[in-house]
Amino acid sequence: MNWKEILKKSVVSAEELEGMPGVDVDEANRVAEVYPMRINPYWLSLMKTAGGPLQRQAVPSAAELMDSPLLEDPLCEEKDSPVFGLTHRYPDRVIFLVSNQCALYCRHCMRKRKVGKHLGTVTDATIEAGLTYIEQTPAVRDVILTGGDPLLLDDEKIDAILARLSEIPHVEMIRIHSRIPATLPMRVTEELCAMLSQYENLWINTHFNHPDEITPEAEKALRLLNRTGAPLGCQTVLLKGVNDTPAVMAELMRKLTKNRVRPYYIHHGDAVKGTGHFRTTIETGLAVVKGLRGHLSGLCVPAYVIDLPGGGGKIPLLPESILARDEEKLTVRGYDGKTYTYPL
Ligand SMILES: *Cc1c(COP(=O)(O)O)cnc(C)c1O
Ligand code: SF4
Repeated sequence: MNWKEILKKSVVSAEELEGMPGVDVDEANRVAEVYPMRINPYWLSLMKTAGGPLQRQAVPSAAELMDSPLLEDPLCEEKDSPVFGLTHRYPDRVIFLVSNQCALYCRHCMRKRKVGKHLGTVTDATIEAGLTYIEQTPAVRDVILTGGDPLLLDDEKIDAILARLSEIPHVEMIRIHSRIPATLPMRVTEELCAMLSQYENLWINTHFNHPDEITPEAEKALRLLNRTGAPLGCQTVLLKGVNDTPAVMAELMRKLTKNRVRPYYIHHGDAVKGTGHFRTTIETGLAVVKGLRGHLSGLCVPAYVIDLPGGGGKIPLLPESILARDEEKLTVRGYDGKTYTYPL
């Protein structure tokens, strides 16, 4: 089966999950009316354990309707949006939604107000408006294609967008943000990669959250993507019950780097309505990072970031290592937990 046929066979209604341990069909359907469900057969085949990390990311849970104090768009992506689907917050870069479809609707999605819904519909006209804005805005040197999932578009469409962007002199780099290598790796075909490899200013950021997502199929997709020459990164979301321990996160980072994917960010879960049950404490996040730094190759250690509400942007958080300082020295805690004195 090709990837489009696999995608067509996705589970979109919970009746099809009847009898699966850990699934409440009525509850899942009630939630899916608000936030759509799509579990493609590939991901379904990986959901081995009831309440396990892959099921938790894919099956709607009643908790999604119970965190009402949270906002749909706390990061104000819409406020900083000059045209539909484009957010220009930082001086030199924009995020540009070119699809609102995904191969899996992740329950933790920070854009769940939009993905898979008519409200978030991306059309040729919205893409054209975004391209025009970028053409007319010389400050933009970095364009992040996101969604939804940009790699759910047809090859020709992706090619056309990349070609237009490549003609703009002030656009120095283009990034594709995609969860496809984790959620539907068969989409990464030789043809897609041959097309992508024509673009020499391209970077690709993946999104893996758990080591079980790095299957032989995913590894093959990463091998093909690596051959395009685009540097590969990964943005992981810190998720309660999925990857909120140092051991799980360390295994994920090791598997990513083994496949030549450079971990870029661990995102603390944003305060987005419908995702509150996935949020951990900052202490948990700091403990996870502490379990990586020094214990693993530095290339395995991403920045742990929080995205400030109201459009303040991302800032990294680090476990406190300076215990004391004076004119002559810093007193610092090493990764081994011991105390060291650093002369100034
Ligand atoms: C995260 C983000 C970016 C990209 O930020 P980097 O730190 O450069 O990866 C750009 N625009 C918006 C609105 C973002 O949220
Ligand atoms: S693939 Fe990305 S955009 Fe799509 S539902 Fe998952 S997190 Fe959201």
